[in-house]
Amino acid sequence: MAQQVNGVLERFIRYCKVGTPSDPKNEAETPSNAAEFELADMLADELKALGVEDAVSDDHAYVVGHIPASAGSEDKPCLGLIAHIDASYDAPAMGVEPRVVHYEGGELLLGIVNGQDITLNESNTPGLSKLAGKDIVCTDGSTLLAADDKAGVAEIMELVSRIMADLSIAHPRLAICFAPDEEIGHGCSLLDLKAYGADIAYTVDGEEIGGVEYETFNAASAEVHFRGHEIHPGSAKNIMVNALHLFEEFDAMLPASERPEHTDGYEGFYHLCNADSNCAKANALYIIRDHDRAKFEARKAHMERVAQLMNARLGQDRVELKIRDQYYNMAEVIAEHMELVDYAKASFEACGYTPKVTPVRGGTDGSQLSLRGLPCPNLSTGGFNFHSVREFIPVYALEDMVDVLQNLVGRFA
Ligand SMILES: [Zn+2]
Repeated sequence: MAQQVNGVLERFIRYCKVGTPSDPKNEAETPSNAAEFELADMLADELKALGVEDAVSDDHAYVVGHIPASAGSEDKPCLGLIAHIDASYDAPAMGVEPRVVHYEGGELLLGIVNGQDITLNESNTPGLSKLAGKDIVCTDGSTLLAADDKAGVAEIMELVSRIMADLSIAHPRLAICFAPDEEIGHGCSLLDLKAYGADIAYTVDGEEIGGVEYETFNAASAEVHFRGHEIHPGSAKNIMVNALHLFEEFDAMLPASERPEHTDGYEGFYHLCNADSNCAKANALYIIRDHDRAKFEARKAHMERVAQLMNARLGQDRVELKIRDQYYNMAEVIAEHMELVDYAKASFEACGYTPKVTPVRGGTDGSQLSLRGLPCPNLSTGGFNFHSVREFIPVYALEDMVDVLQNLVGRFA
């Protein structure tokens, strides 16, 4: 085992060093950052070297490869394992230098950046204290680590390496996919599901080990345009319509208690993302989120009603609302395939972890895939503090996730 244990850590560190932040300003291109090709090509080469004969990295930096089922499991459904190669752009992501640190407990100084101490402590990282005495992989606080999602990539690669070296490991036909640009909402959108060939799948892209996620938000965006009537303020009486105040009026009719900062768990929200406005016109962008489809539809209907109410009062269409659905809760699809959730929970338990099923307050690559017909819950990677310079992952979590995945593929064989 010792050699394999070193394997996942060594892989992980090597992948983290390839800086691959996706670029929201270049989202028309896939990959949005040409650097993603470097990691994609590296992974395709490594898969081939491990014996995955059909492994390829394509023009859009998708890496796909297939592993035939172990003897006797040829007729089982093909299981997909998916991770993403891009890193978040929310924190500096180039020049990542992962380092292994023995965490003694208490506050951990990662580094000093622009004169500021960057530290890990129990208040910025709930659960940190229980990692005392463990080795963790972190950075010096100047960049993120990209455990999101290079931990997922390394864990899947290590599993492939084990399977290719040991014919006794039971598994169904496996379809491996490493996708670009998940962080800017593309992820598997260009994946040809027919050629990919998986019947069911998991993304390995969550945080603390034990996590199983199969419920996501239903999501919509709402653009609102307010048309004012501008005139010199000195002669404005009974003529001026100030778009800024129309916007204020609209916003005030959305329940303030249903904002992201006041909600968690299964509570949905309206979020005002952006607004630019003057007297003549105002534009606001909201997002609407709810796990419950009926409540989601009710939120959209409420916004429509507010716009109609204002237009009726103003006697003119001064409020224009454009609502666009973005993605839906994958739970509706997974409900038909609950064995995906049950097997994942059983595999965590078999490896000594208490599974934790939580609703995702966002979407995952799997929400898109599930709605396109490939049921795909999300599993933990073992990492902490994603999208932050405080991102880290315990070494044992990297190692144990490979065991969890090996146990899990065995259940489908
Ligand atoms: Zn991720």
